[in-house]
Amino acid sequence: MHRTGTAKISVVIPMYNEEQNVVIFCKRLFQSLDLLPEPWEVICVNDGSTDSTLELLRKEQEKRRGLIIVNLPRNFGQHAAVMAGFEQARGDWIVTLDADLQNPPEEIPRIVEQLRNGHDLVGSIRTTRKDYFFRRWASRITTWLVSRISGITLQDFGCMLRGYSKPVIKGILQNPEYRTFIPALATFFAKNPIEIRVSHEGRAAGNSKYSLLKLFGLQLDLMTGFSLWPLRTLFFAGIAISFLGLSLGALILVLRIYYGPEWAAGGVFTLFALLFFFVGAQFFGLGLIGEYIGRIFQAVRKRPPYVLGEVLKKE
Ligand code: UDP
Ligand code: MG
Repeated sequence: MHRTGTAKISVVIPMYNEEQNVVIFCKRLFQSLDLLPEPWEVICVNDGSTDSTLELLRKEQEKRRGLIIVNLPRNFGQHAAVMAGFEQARGDWIVTLDADLQNPPEEIPRIVEQLRNGHDLVGSIRTTRKDYFFRRWASRITTWLVSRISGITLQDFGCMLRGYSKPVIKGILQNPEYRTFIPALATFFAKNPIEIRVSHEGRAAGNSKYSLLKLFGLQLDLMTGFSLWPLRTLFFAGIAISFLGLSLGALILVLRIYYGPEWAAGGVFTLFALLFFFVGAQFFGLGLIGEYIGRIFQAVRKRPPYVLGEVLKKE
């Protein structure tokens, strides 16, 4: 079944320079959706691709029914792109996934099944995770952080193959935050979440759109966006470091008395090392505070997370 006036399921996919995947992705996605009894719509968000992603999507739109293209004039990032898709989604259930076939579209019916069962948030745990060591490690930190902050223990926040009910999406859209992390935000609005195990593939073609820097930015979004915990850590770390500094000072004093002034001259470099350590700690703290101030700045400016280019529909 395809999109009718009232789609029950909206599938939202962010795409950034995915020309190598668009065609095969659409083929597998639509095949999988055809198995569902509910009417559906597909919303592909072109996140300012500089390759032929948009043109290929237009071709797919000619061939198929139920495909909406949301075009963003420049690259706003995965989460902003997904938000732009949510804004257009009209279904009662919304499913997100990546376009690189790391999340097999064939798993969508299993997500929908849980939504049908009344769960308002369906997460997925990647069983056969095909990512580099660094990414797996970053994920683990993410999961730990979000669980602690939100009090909801999900096992895998990073996997974007997820299902949401309309009220959860409405909650997410009410947050005009400049930068956000959707799976974490969603947990605040979910009453009855569940996680299922899904398979995970290596990227079908092309490279990951996340550079190390972008990935680091995402972790920062998550950390500063959802808690004041880093600031508190800073506070306690400050106390600990000062205490350590005082104790070391006392120790050096005692040793100087014991070994005499020659030893103390030899200790100049130790003092330098200590100095550097403290200066470093201060800079770290200032940087962290700067992060928050930067975000306050962004919030005060009320800059929208994305600017809509156009919505292309074929009806
Ligand atoms: N993506 C996007 N905008 C970006 C970066 C990524 O829309 O700025 C999309 C990308 O096309 C893909 C999904 O987000 O569909 C996940 O990106 P990617 O596979 O590069 O991330 P990874 O799997 O490495 O976490
Ligand atoms: Mg990927």
